[in-house]
Amino acid sequence: MEDGKPVWAPHPTDGFQLGMIVDIGADALTIEPLSQRGKTFLAPMSQVFPAEDDVNKHVDDNCSLMYLNEATLLNNVRVRYNKDHIYTYVANILIAVNPYYDIPKLYGPEAIKSYQGKSLGTLPPHVYAIADKAYRDMKVLKMSQSIIVSGESGAGKTENTKFVLRYLTTTYGSGQDIDERIVEANPLLEAFGNAKTVRNNNSSRFGKFVEIHFNDKNAVVGGFVSHYLLEKSRICMQSNDERNYHIFYRLCAGASEDIKKKLHLDSPDSFRYLNRGCTRYFASKDSDKQIMQNRKSPEHLKVGALKDPLLDDHGDFNRMCVAMKKIGLDDTEKLDLFRVVAGVLHLGNIDFEETGSSSGGCVLKNQSGQTLEYCADLLGLDQDDLRVSLTTRVMLTTAGGAKGTVIKVPLKVEQANNARDALAKAVYSRLFDHVVKRVNQCFPFETSSNFIGVLDIAGFEYFEHNSFEQFCINYCNEKLQQFFNERILKEEQELYQREGLGVNEVHYVDNQDCIDLVEAKLVGVLDILDEENRLPQPSDQHFALAVHSKHKDHFRLTVPRKSKLTIHRNLRDDEGFIIRAIEKNNDALHMSLESLVCESKDKFVRELFENSNTTKDSKQKAGKLSFISVGNKFKTQLNLLLEKLRSTGSSFIRCVKPNLKMVSHQFEGALILSQLQCSGMVSVLDLMQGGFPSRAPFHELYNMYKQYMPDKLTRLNPRLFCKALFKALGLNDNDFKFGLTRVFFRPGKFAEFDQIMKSD
Ligand code: ATP
Ligand code: MG
Repeated sequence: MEDGKPVWAPHPTDGFQLGMIVDIGADALTIEPLSQRGKTFLAPMSQVFPAEDDVNKHVDDNCSLMYLNEATLLNNVRVRYNKDHIYTYVANILIAVNPYYDIPKLYGPEAIKSYQGKSLGTLPPHVYAIADKAYRDMKVLKMSQSIIVSGESGAGKTENTKFVLRYLTTTYGSGQDIDERIVEANPLLEAFGNAKTVRNNNSSRFGKFVEIHFNDKNAVVGGFVSHYLLEKSRICMQSNDERNYHIFYRLCAGASEDIKKKLHLDSPDSFRYLNRGCTRYFASKDSDKQIMQNRKSPEHLKVGALKDPLLDDHGDFNRMCVAMKKIGLDDTEKLDLFRVVAGVLHLGNIDFEETGSSSGGCVLKNQSGQTLEYCADLLGLDQDDLRVSLTTRVMLTTAGGAKGTVIKVPLKVEQANNARDALAKAVYSRLFDHVVKRVNQCFPFETSSNFIGVLDIAGFEYFEHNSFEQFCINYCNEKLQQFFNERILKEEQELYQREGLGVNEVHYVDNQDCIDLVEAKLVGVLDILDEENRLPQPSDQHFALAVHSKHKDHFRLTVPRKSKLTIHRNLRDDEGFIIRAIEKNNDALHMSLESLVCESKDKFVRELFENSNTTKDSKQKAGKLSFISVGNKFKTQLNLLLEKLRSTGSSFIRCVKPNLKMVSHQFEGALILSQLQCSGMVSVLDLMQGGFPSRAPFHELYNMYKQYMPDKLTRLNPRLFCKALFKALGLNDNDFKFGLTRVFFRPGKFAEFDQIMKSD
C-alpha cells in the first residue's frame, strides 16, 4: 500500500469501503473513510487492502487487475453487477451473480450462437463460454468433463445448470428428440424435488449430477441424471413460510375435475401435510418448535404458504404436463404418479386417538375412516391391514421359552403418528427415485464416447439450528472444496513446477482432517452414528459421548453445551453443527409397514418398493427395526461421484446471491463477500497475487504480435521472439517469467503489455 493512496477497509454492510490510512499501529490501522472525512476507525492490518487506481474500472477477468485481493474482487464484481455484467472470471473460474430479473438477450439464440467455438476470454464472461470450453476440452483432449456449479440457496445454481444443458443440446445436439428431452426433464424433476423455502421460491431439495453423453463424432446421444439426498422431512412438515414439494399444490390446483374426483382431491388447506395447521401440530418436539420460532423471513415473503401469489400452481401444473408429454410419459404413467401423490396426502390426514383402555394403544379417530379408505384405495392397500400396521407393531416374543412367537404391540398416539409419517416419507421418496429413473429412460444411449456432467448441489448451510441434512450437505461441500483445492490450487503449483518457474510453494487450507473426522472407517462420525443406530436404545447423548471419547482433544471438536456435539469448520465458537441425527440416519420402515407396501395390490406401488429390504425371512427380523444407514449411503454415493469428477476435466461456476430479499439491483456487499470467501475464491486470489496469473504460450504471443514486428524478429522461433520482444520493450524482469512453453505475467502485467503493443 502506497502513501496517499486510498485503501479498502472493512465495512459492516458493504463489505469494504474506501479510506485513507492515517495512522499505523502495532497490528491495527487507523482509517479515515473517504465518505466521512474527519471520522476515523481502527481496522485490523489483515483486513485492509490496496485499491486499484481507478475503482470504477471493471475487468472481465479479475486476474488482470493490479491488486488481487478480496476487496478488489468484490469491487470488480459490484461495478460489473451494476452494469448487468453478472458474470466475471477469476482465471478459468466463473463467478455468476444472480440478477433476479431477466437481463434482455443475455441467453437468447444469438448469444448461444456467438459463443460457439470461442476460446475463453475472447467474449464477455458467460456461462455459455464455460459450457463451450468444456465441450472443446472434451473434443480436443478426448476426455469427459464436469462443470461444478456451487453456491448457497437462491444463488442461481439450477438456473445456470439449465443454461449449460440448453447450450450444449442446442449447439451440439443431434437434432433429435433427445436434445429437447434433456432440457424438458427439468420441469418434472423440479415438480417433485423443488419447493418454496424462505431462501428461494424454487429451491432444489436434492442434489443432481446431469451427464450429457456424446458419440465419437461429439454429438449428443443421450443423458443420465444421478440424484442425491432428497430432503424427506419436508414431506410431513415445513417451517413457517415454507411449502411442501411443488407437485402437491400443483395437483390440487391444476388437475381436471375428473382426476380430482378420482383422487378425492380438495384444496390444499384440507391436507395436514400442506396446511399451516400441520406446522403447529407437528411441532411437538422442543427442537422443532425452536427451529420454527427462530426462522426469520423477509417481510415481503410472509405470505400464506398455500396460495402463494409469487407462484402460479395452476399454470405450473399445465407446463409440467406439457413437459411430461414431451419426454414421453403417457396418461397412465402420469396418473400413476398423481395417484401416489394423492395417496400420500390422504395418508397424512389420518388421525389417531387414545383408546382409553388399559393396554394403552390408540385407534383411528372416527372422521379418519373415509381418509383411510381413500388412502388404502389409492395406494392399493387393504384398509384393515393399513389400520393395523399404523396402530400396532409386530414384535417377537421370547417369553416362556416360546421363542419366535409373533405378537402385536399396540402403539401410542405419538408412535402411530410417527409410523404414518415414516410411511409417507418412504412412499414419496421412492416415488422421487422412480421419477428420476423414468426420466433416465427418456434419453437412453447405447454407446457413449465421453460425457459432460453438470453438478448442481446445495452449498454450505449454516442455520441457527442445524440438523443431519446440514451435516450431510456440509460434508459434501468439504469434499467438493477439497476437489476444488486439488484442481485449482495444487494444479497451479504443479504447473509452476513443471514450467520451472521456481515459485515458492503457495499455502492453502487443507481440509483432509475434517473429511477424515466424518468419514474415516469405524472412528468417523458417520460410522459412530451407524453404530449408535444399531443399539437397542440409541440416543443423541450417547452418540455425542462416543464421538468425543474417540476424538479426545480433536481441534475441530468441542462440547459447547452439555451433550451436544459440535464440529467446527473454523475454530470459531459461534459456528458448528448440532446433530440430532439418530432418527434421520435411518431409512428403514417398520417391518409391518414395509411388507404392507411391498405387497400392495397396485403394481406401480409394489414396484416402487421392489428393491427394498424385505426378504423371505422377514419374520425373523420382525420386531426389530431394521436399519438402513442414510449417512453411509450418501458417503458411498459421494465417493463414487468424486471418483467420477477426478476422472474428468473440470470447470467451476461459483454462484452468488446478491441479497436476501430476492430482488434485482440490490448488491449487499458483506453478504456477497462472505460467499466469495466461503467458495474458496479468496484463496485463489492469494495464490494468484503471489504468482503469475496471466500466461500465454510462446506461439500465441508470436502469432498475436508478429504483425507489429520487423521481419528480422519474426524469423526467430516463438520463444526467442518473445525474449527479444520483451527486451526491446524494456519490460521489468520482475513482471514476467519464462517457463518451458509459455510466458507467465504478474497480476495486471499482461494487460499493460498488451496495451503497449497495440498502442504502438
Ligand atoms: P437452491 O439451492 O435453493 O436450489 P439455486 O442456487 O438452485 O438455489 P436457483 O433456483 O437457480 O437457485 O435461482 C433462484 C431464483 O433466482 C430463480 O428462480 C430465478 O428467479 C432467479 N435467477 C437465478 N439465476 C438467474 C438468472 N441468470 N437470470 C434471471 N434470474 C435468475
Ligand atoms: Mg437449485
